[in-house]
Amino acid sequence: MGALTDALADAARSAGAVLATGHEAVRIDTDGRRAEVTYRTADGEGVAAARHVLVNASPQRLAALTGDTPPPPAEGAQLKVNMLLERLPRLRDTSVDPREAFAGTFHIAEGYAQLAAAHAQAAAGDLPAAPPSEIYCHSLTDPTILGPDLVERGCQTLTLFGLHAPARLFERDNDAVRADLLEATLAQLDAHLAEPLADCLATDADGRPCIEAKTPLDLERDLGLPGGNIFHRDLAWPYAQDGAGRWGVETPHANVLLCGAGAVRGGGVSGVPGHNAAMAVLEDLTG
Ligand SMILES: Cc1cc2nc3c(=O)[nH]c(=O)nc-3n(C[C@H](O)[C@H](O)[C@H](O)COP(=O)(O)OP(=O)(O)OC[C@H]3O[C@@H](n4cnc5c(N)ncnc54)[C@H](O)[C@@H]3O)c2cc1C
Repeated sequence: MGALTDALADAARSAGAVLATGHEAVRIDTDGRRAEVTYRTADGEGVAAARHVLVNASPQRLAALTGDTPPPPAEGAQLKVNMLLERLPRLRDTSVDPREAFAGTFHIAEGYAQLAAAHAQAAAGDLPAAPPSEIYCHSLTDPTILGPDLVERGCQTLTLFGLHAPARLFERDNDAVRADLLEATLAQLDAHLAEPLADCLATDADGRPCIEAKTPLDLERDLGLPGGNIFHRDLAWPYAQDGAGRWGVETPHANVLLCGAGAVRGGGVSGVPGHNAAMAVLEDLTG
């Protein structure tokens, strides 16, 4: 991923693009032909003017920026846990090498009946008793995501994706519910391990275990994902509805286009919305 995004950034810069991070868009004014984006940085506010504005933020955020009516609210339903380990945990099944087990997707409490039970509990407003989740070890696939010193030490990353954890379950007390769900989720994982996962976690300079859990409410606060929905809105079928527009990136404003997950059939790391937004701009410029 690093090589891909570096190559994209290099291609953009060599075509004359200026890449600026740390700029929060706070307003978009447009007459359909020319637009102004007001942004905020650590140093204050500024304005950028352009013929076209491509928006990667969610449709909810876009509506707030333009002052339009927002789309229906969205809701995410996942717990995300990122971990840095000193070593991969040993498995209860001694015939399997942990490097093989964690090289693919490691499924926990994800049998059909378990998923159905967890869904029913979450739909009734309770945390799943045996929370289903799956784990990926990205550092086995691509060790370059870790610094050389961590690779040398034999460290690995684990990332856990927990299912059936809708945002509404966290509303009464996000911190407390996050802690409860994390504990229940890791207990399901520990049932398959010959040593507790906690014993394998690396620690930071202050001696704290390197583990962080994010609820849908955390993702809404930190990344502006509506209701913590990782796809910005519910995926829909059929996806080429009437009125979707030619490229599926259109908004009520002719020169403001979505280029992210909120575009038609946009969720996931497909790159399709960016391509489609670029095509819409090219078509507009070349008539
Ligand atoms: C935990 C998790 C696991 C996932 N797993 C997978 C997976 O396995 N496979 C898959 O295909 N997809 C997965 N996804 C979904 C995928 O990551 C998203 O669909 C994809 O990142 C959407 O890309 P995007 O660029 O459209 O939007 P985002 O990645 O949401 O980016 C939007 C950006 O806009 C910024 N922003 C918002 N408002 C403003 C503003 N006012 N001014 C400036 N910037 C703003 C945000 O900070 C953010 O950086 C996962 C998502 C999450 C959260």
